[in-house]
Amino acid sequence: MEETQVLIVGAGPVGLTLALDLGRRGVRCTLIERNTTSIQLPKMERCNARTMEIYRRLGIAEQVRDAGLPRHAPMDVFLALSMVDPPLAHLPCPSVAEAAAEIASRNDGGLLEPYQLISQYTLEPLLRSIVETFPSIKVRFGCELISFTQDANSVAAVVQAIDAPQETIRAAYLAGCDGGSSTVRKQLGITLQGEGNIRKLRQALFRCDDLYERIPMGKGRHYHIADGPLFPFLILQDSARHWTLHAAASSDAEMAQIFKKSLAMPIAFEMLSVNEWTQHLLCAERYGEGRVFVAGDAAHLVIPTGGLGMNTGVGDAVDLSWKLAATLEGWGGPQLLASYEAERRPIGLRNVKASRAAMTGRLGWRAAYHSNIRDNTPDGAATRERMAALFDTEQRKVTEILGIEAGYRYGDSPIVWREPGEGPDPDNPAYVPTTWPGARLPHVWLSDGAALHDRLGSGYTLLRLGGTHSDTSGLERSFQELHAPLEVLDIVGERPRDIYQFDLLLIRPDLHVVWRGNHLRQDASKIARVSTGGLPSRT
Ligand SMILES: Cc1cc2nc3c(=O)[nH]c(=O)nc-3n(C[C@H](O)[C@H](O)[C@H](O)COP(=O)(O)OP(=O)(O)OC[C@H]3O[C@@H](n4cnc5c(N)ncnc54)[C@H](O)[C@@H]3O)c2cc1C
Repeated sequence: MEETQVLIVGAGPVGLTLALDLGRRGVRCTLIERNTTSIQLPKMERCNARTMEIYRRLGIAEQVRDAGLPRHAPMDVFLALSMVDPPLAHLPCPSVAEAAAEIASRNDGGLLEPYQLISQYTLEPLLRSIVETFPSIKVRFGCELISFTQDANSVAAVVQAIDAPQETIRAAYLAGCDGGSSTVRKQLGITLQGEGNIRKLRQALFRCDDLYERIPMGKGRHYHIADGPLFPFLILQDSARHWTLHAAASSDAEMAQIFKKSLAMPIAFEMLSVNEWTQHLLCAERYGEGRVFVAGDAAHLVIPTGGLGMNTGVGDAVDLSWKLAATLEGWGGPQLLASYEAERRPIGLRNVKASRAAMTGRLGWRAAYHSNIRDNTPDGAATRERMAALFDTEQRKVTEILGIEAGYRYGDSPIVWREPGEGPDPDNPAYVPTTWPGARLPHVWLSDGAALHDRLGSGYTLLRLGGTHSDTSGLERSFQELHAPLEVLDIVGERPRDIYQFDLLLIRPDLHVVWRGNHLRQDASKIARVSTGGLPSRT
């Protein structure tokens, strides 16, 4: 019987990211995927800034960028009557190169990485090729999870490989990253809560080699066609030769007609695929049971407006991975794995809500549509102006939500120190840097030009800022007694201390803040036990 430490079910972006982080931490994993190849259909196309920070930490950000849309390509969003008409509205968004230059020029606690446009059908094979380099990870495509049982010590999973008899894989833990129709979630009897089956849409993938160079209104990533009731939506894919079209068409063939009408210019194209997909706004009532967890679309399903699908799942993966590794290494306390659901389910619910708000924003400007929109009349002009004005405010609820993408905080976590008070609004669409316990550590540049994030190792870090002389030996001793990895890092310079506002910060392996203060005094042992899951933070 095959034995492993963690069995990951599903080699979508979430399962692959989980495997990658576990592989880096030296955990033995088996990753099974029922399909024989990675995804061929387009789905997500944008890794948000927080996902790119995570990929930087995993050492793959530049590989992702090299495989994605070139760094200088504009990321603008347009509303127009067709691809040859002048734009009714135009939301400029910085290219990756422009955003990176902006990040390099500022030191105000913002994000370290910009977003990256990369098609899911490019990202998945890339992640797979990286994961396959880890000797501790066994990747098995064409292998389906059929069922599993668990007891106090392990999980026994029955799997079916192609042309082979069923076999059992025994693992210490099982992670169900098996997508929206998750076998793992269903077998645990976990229901999805919220609104399911909201709307069906068709998505088609086109190859159109010349379009990108010939769009008179300018290069961008999203083109919304102001043509109701279908409102065709064209999305640039990473090759800049492929496009997806989303529309509520009544047949596959109609998708080609809609694409042709939207282009409104004689240009050759080929429709490569069409598929139907359904919009949901759902979150699992629980994120696991015992030794089994669910992550990614298995745990939450959003409308992709706002790009909070895969990106939320990547957050799940890196929250779960270090906790699994710590528990397997023996220093993770009982609260550690339990905190996965306590931390990530509120974020799942929050991002479902944010996705609903983004979709409502989009429907808001679409509601201004009137059949006179093309008319060369005062009424036609008024319709166009109204829609453009609404687009300018409402579409920003989709494109300008950095606070949702990166400002999430594990406020009620049992492994995060409680501070009195409320803290800044974690649902603010604008990102506001904070070191409030549970928040992602804001990025700062150090005086030697390095990013502080890059200095942080794979365990805990105690940051000592502003030349503090505070005695931290009690905390260091407590971590040693728990056999938990802690590095102490003295950070010189005023800027980091100004941004972080405290002399001492305890940072977790996933770069979220556990505790902050100016002195440790008698709390040291308690802080160490809370952060490693040995003692719930409420006591
Ligand atoms: C049109 C569209 C556009 C989108 N755009 C974006 C975007 O811009 N940004 C964003 O963040 N998200 C976007 N999303 C959402 C994103 O695609 C999903 O959130 C993402 O794929 C979820 O990743 P996952 O790994 O959790 O699940 P999946 O990608 O669904 O992967 C699950 C894997 O598990 C495998 N599997 C299932 N059952 C079993 C089994 N029993 N045994 C073995 N293997 C199994 C499946 O074959 C699959 O490969 C979009 C989605 C759609 C439909």
